[in-house]
Amino acid sequence: MRPLTAALILIFACLLGCNASNSAKAQESGRNQDSQQGIDDPSLYLATRHFDERKAWTHMEKQVNFGFRVPGSSAHKACKEYIEAELQKQCDAVEVQEFRMKLGGEDTRMWNIVGRFNVTAKRRVMLAAHWDTRPTADMNTKASKKLPIQGANDGASGVSVLLELARVFNEHRPEVGLDLVFFDGEDYGPGLDMMFLGSKYYCNSMPDSEIATYNYGVLLDMVGDTDLVIRPENHSSNSVEVFLAAKALSDAMGYKVFRDSGALTIYDDHLSFIDRGMHFYDFIDFEYGPDNRYWHTTDDTIDNCSKESLKAIGEIVENLVFKFPDLYAPGS
Ligand SMILES: [Zn+2]
Repeated sequence: MRPLTAALILIFACLLGCNASNSAKAQESGRNQDSQQGIDDPSLYLATRHFDERKAWTHMEKQVNFGFRVPGSSAHKACKEYIEAELQKQCDAVEVQEFRMKLGGEDTRMWNIVGRFNVTAKRRVMLAAHWDTRPTADMNTKASKKLPIQGANDGASGVSVLLELARVFNEHRPEVGLDLVFFDGEDYGPGLDMMFLGSKYYCNSMPDSEIATYNYGVLLDMVGDTDLVIRPENHSSNSVEVFLAAKALSDAMGYKVFRDSGALTIYDDHLSFIDRGMHFYDFIDFEYGPDNRYWHTTDDTIDNCSKESLKAIGEIVENLVFKFPDLYAPGS
């Protein structure tokens, strides 16, 4: 674990004092910062703002326009090909992991997709999201519960942020190895036994030697809500430094996205990795609409998401990777 407190004080001191208009310096400081090497140099903590929310929003529109990305559907296959093609433009290596599940009596092809940077690096960060959408709007109260959901927030938002971050990290290389992982079958359901299908499969296929290269992972889920609020997540508590660093960045960059009150307990794609000893934090906004009433409903539409939220979380995660890649030692 790093001496985070000292680093955070410097972030506050510099980001609040210097502000982001000092963009030339921010550009210079946008890569290869490791506070262990220069923790007393405040210029290291200027925020970079390479993330382009308009590009992220285009990724949102593309996904939603494919239709419902339910495993086994043509929209699902089209979306898989889109993610793969976008990663091919930006990443050092792209891998597609195919697996098959019996879904609704049908033998169904599913895919986890990975875009890697700095493939051989032994200090790595994983950023992950699920890309499938739920086949049924089981939280609908007025419309039918059998309808599929658009999954603009629950599916497309995390993918959009990661695809735009792929461009950022291609143009401004991270110091550590970085893997952008897109899980299939997170939201198939209806019960927990048929959820997190892709992340379980992916995690089970990782040898211990690969797990041991990760400093930490971050899961992005439901990060497109117009009123983006991310609270502590109890299953992620062995990775609290990740949350604290993101909150410090959020506050210092002028966002109020991360709040330290109202902790949640969320079952999500991070759990398999935590079970194997990885540090893995779930950044999830589980207040989607009043009383979370858009979640798993036909109201999970692009109209209930915003570019500004993608921008906030995109910039925060961009800076997390640039400035805090070493919050935990690999495999610790
Ligand atoms: Zn969901």
